Amino acid sequence: MTTDNKLETLTHYINGKRVAAANAKTQPVFNPATGSPCAQVVLAEVLEVNAAVAAAAAAAPAWADTAPLKRARIMSKFKELLEKNHDALAAAITREHGKVFSDAKGEVIRGLEIVEFACGIPQLLKTQFTDNIGGGIDNWQLRQPLGVTVGITPFNFPVMVPLWMAPMAIACGNTFILKPSERDPTPSLMMADLFKEAGLPDGVFNVVQGDKLAVDTLLQHPDVKAVSFVGSTPIAEYIYTEGAKRKGAYPLRVQALGGAKNHLVVMPDADLDQAVDALIGAAYGSAGERCMAISVAVAVGSVADKLVDALVPRIKALKIKNGLEADAEMGPVVTAVHKAKIESYIADGVKSGAKLIVDGRGISVPGHEQGFFLGGTLFDHVTPDMKIHQEEIFGPVLCVVRVPDMAAAINLINAHEYGNGVALFTSDGNTAREFSRRIEVGMVGVNVPIPVPMAWHSFGGWKRSLFGDTHIYGEEGVRFYTRYKSIMQRWPESIAKGAEFTMPVAK
Ligand code: NAD
Repeated sequence: MTTDNKLETLTHYINGKRVAAANAKTQPVFNPATGSPCAQVVLAEVLEVNAAVAAAAAAAPAWADTAPLKRARIMSKFKELLEKNHDALAAAITREHGKVFSDAKGEVIRGLEIVEFACGIPQLLKTQFTDNIGGGIDNWQLRQPLGVTVGITPFNFPVMVPLWMAPMAIACGNTFILKPSERDPTPSLMMADLFKEAGLPDGVFNVVQGDKLAVDTLLQHPDVKAVSFVGSTPIAEYIYTEGAKRKGAYPLRVQALGGAKNHLVVMPDADLDQAVDALIGAAYGSAGERCMAISVAVAVGSVADKLVDALVPRIKALKIKNGLEADAEMGPVVTAVHKAKIESYIADGVKSGAKLIVDGRGISVPGHEQGFFLGGTLFDHVTPDMKIHQEEIFGPVLCVVRVPDMAAAINLINAHEYGNGVALFTSDGNTAREFSRRIEVGMVGVNVPIPVPMAWHSFGGWKRSLFGDTHIYGEEGVRFYTRYKSIMQRWPESIAKGAEFTMPVAK
């Protein structure tokens, strides 16, 4: 696409500066509420990716040698600046993503909590020491940084997901390159400016804007030591598989978090009003574009008719508007292409025999006729074999599956290829306990619809919702971004004379 001078051009951020090659390839960034471009973003070529890796590699040794307490102080300053710029960040999210402003503010807070956690890095990097394992030898360990690390992030949380990664990587003593989504890139540059204002040395945090070419170049670069990915399952699997192929003395470490299809089970003994409130917020908040959104309500036994009857008026009453309007409850979806994809899933659901109770297609928001808006959609009598149950729709579409008992609900969920989040609404403790133990899903909410773990508990799904061994942020994040080294030491005074030919044992 040719460069349009009327629109702001969003560039890379390398070695403390915004940079873009002359005649760079660009792509429009849309405001989903108006349906018009609000900026354009450059797409990196190999040269620019290599420049970012070189900057990050050059900054890595000094940053790794910076005392963890000093790193923590910069992180603490960064947290203050995020707080100061809370509204500006949220407004940028709403402009390019479409989610309502209050939800965007919540996203910033959930990211900020990881920064707060990373401020405790001196304590988190503390390790264990054993005095005198025998023969005057002491044994302890180090957790050392890896070097250049990379984060590749999705469109749906342009602040929170980068903050799941960068503060952890940087506090652990690594340098970091963010490759944000090309659909909402502005917050990545705002965060780069705030890191700089917080005193982070140039080259420690970099941003490369781009698409598959940028991702592939980062994956293949021998100086990149670890990649955190969050996005859809096909790309997560691709990143994980490509990463595993990379040969060398220092194989690429990869954690790749993928897509989801999250169920909320309503037991007959649940408080129905609470379950309905939870479903409305979790299915239609952020227009369903959350990896922890609830997209399937599993109605157990006699609860189904009552549940559907209670949901319908609430879905029809959703306030669907530009996310900047004060009383908006649901904004548009991210792009026209994504809107068309969601509509095709709705058509497929009808074709496969599910009962379309509320149809969100064809709505028009006054003053925003070109915006990418969809209304809340509800299907009943969805069966496990239907595409609308099997695949992630990532839009404001809720499917009701009816099952006879809890065992059937567990079987339905455990048979699904995704295992990110799940919720159970019940008033029975034993039901909750059994469900939590038997369900094959990484994050479980009991009477909590969106169980996103706090900063000091790690986040991650099971099955095809996560490729890799470690979950993201929290203590698992510290493990992912450091290498473990065990050291044994003794001093000449305690060394017995003569060579030993047997396996060393404590004496
Ligand atoms: P996406 O997979 O399309 O894109 C994610 C990132 O990968 C972007 O930076 C994009 O530029 C890059 N990318 C896209 N296509 C690529 C390709 N062919 N090769 C290499 N890189 C490529 O995801 P999205 O649409 O931006 O985000 C929505 C998805 O993310 C949903 O599936 C959602 O469930 C998932 N998600 C998961 C979590 C989680 O924690 N598990 C959190 C947020 C979002």
